Amino acid sequence: MAFSYLSRRLVRGLLKPSIASRSISHGLPKSSEIDASAYHLGGGPSFMRGTVFWEPNKPLTIEEFQMPRPKAGEVLIKTKACGVCHSDLHVIKGEIPFSSPCVIGHEITGEVVEHGAHTDTEILKRFPLGSHVVGAFIMPCGNCFYCVKGQEDLCEAFFAYNRAKGTLYDGETRLFFRNSGKAAYMYSMGGLAEYCVVPAHALAVLPSSLPYSESAILGCAVFTAYGAMRHAADMRAGDAVAVIGIGGVGSSCLQIARAFGAAEVIAVDVQDEKLQNAKTLGATHTINAKKENVIERIKEVTGGRGVDIAVEALGKPLTFSQCAQSVRDGGKAVMIGLAASTAVGEVDINRLVRRQVKIIGSYGGRARQDLPQIVKLAETGTFNLDATVSRKCKFEDANGAYQDLNEGKIIGRAVVEIA
Ligand SMILES: [Zn+2]
Ligand SMILES: [Zn+2]
Repeated sequence: MAFSYLSRRLVRGLLKPSIASRSISHGLPKSSEIDASAYHLGGGPSFMRGTVFWEPNKPLTIEEFQMPRPKAGEVLIKTKACGVCHSDLHVIKGEIPFSSPCVIGHEITGEVVEHGAHTDTEILKRFPLGSHVVGAFIMPCGNCFYCVKGQEDLCEAFFAYNRAKGTLYDGETRLFFRNSGKAAYMYSMGGLAEYCVVPAHALAVLPSSLPYSESAILGCAVFTAYGAMRHAADMRAGDAVAVIGIGGVGSSCLQIARAFGAAEVIAVDVQDEKLQNAKTLGATHTINAKKENVIERIKEVTGGRGVDIAVEALGKPLTFSQCAQSVRDGGKAVMIGLAASTAVGEVDINRLVRRQVKIIGSYGGRARQDLPQIVKLAETGTFNLDATVSRKCKFEDANGAYQDLNEGKIIGRAVVEIA
């Protein structure tokens, strides 16, 4: 993929002789240096910095890249903020395999600075240059079997190209190191960088009343919570909801449950500080799973029956099982926490069958239908962004933010601000 890209540049005479390769252990094709000065936005910079994951459990590094260029239907965003999410951490720790080196980060806001050539005029009108946007981490292609059905959260191209290969949907990355010209892969849009290329279907306009930094979490934490409650759980006003794991996504679930009219919202975690915060986000009850029996307490709160909807936002076998056991007969156990790729969950088969328990997986949301709605929830104050974003850090300090996330030191969500 990088080869064909470089070949085209070669034809245009932009290549310089090869320089020493930085790393041959990553299995990338040997390539040549591109003269960055010959390759830039009109009037804009010709290169940018991005945060690179090299291999599991090695620190992230900040590297220079040639300015990425959008193709048809894609938008170049000047990134303003990027959330610090557990999914990136799974990649960093090697728990979820991903092509490397790659630029991580998938929860962004930013400003539209360029459209790819031959982009549909409706897209140009919807996202004029200079508009503020938020990007969803599942970037729908818009044309596959699932996108056509409206189930953009299952987009075939996203999983086949981005999650499986680290590229966009022509099978190519948009990221090349400034000096070596070597390819780097993209976890979603590769958002922890000064610029990123995003397929337009993943974007929604951000009103000027919403800040860039706090709004970044709309594209993954809130998007995931909204998708789980709206599509997987099909939540109704008056439902009793339990959320297990009150991190960025879990605390967003509390707020979405409240916004959708939940009667009871039960927050479950092992940290009192997170549970305390949960009360400010709409939790009517809290359970410390280290000190109390989660299932017994949930039954106590719900007249002995269990909740209508339980959400698991941790991705651990123990909490998976707790989630399934916490729902009433006919209730829905919604699993949204990604686990290590070898993890397996246990279910009581007979209860599942006889008591019609529904175990439902949910991943993200449907960008084109959900993201504008999510933006409205934030715009009207129904979803309180300030209450979920607990820390902001500088671009240079992203590595430390992921370390703190790994150590459970981040109560809600950390956001990296990119100048
Ligand atoms: Zn995420
Ligand atoms: Zn698709």
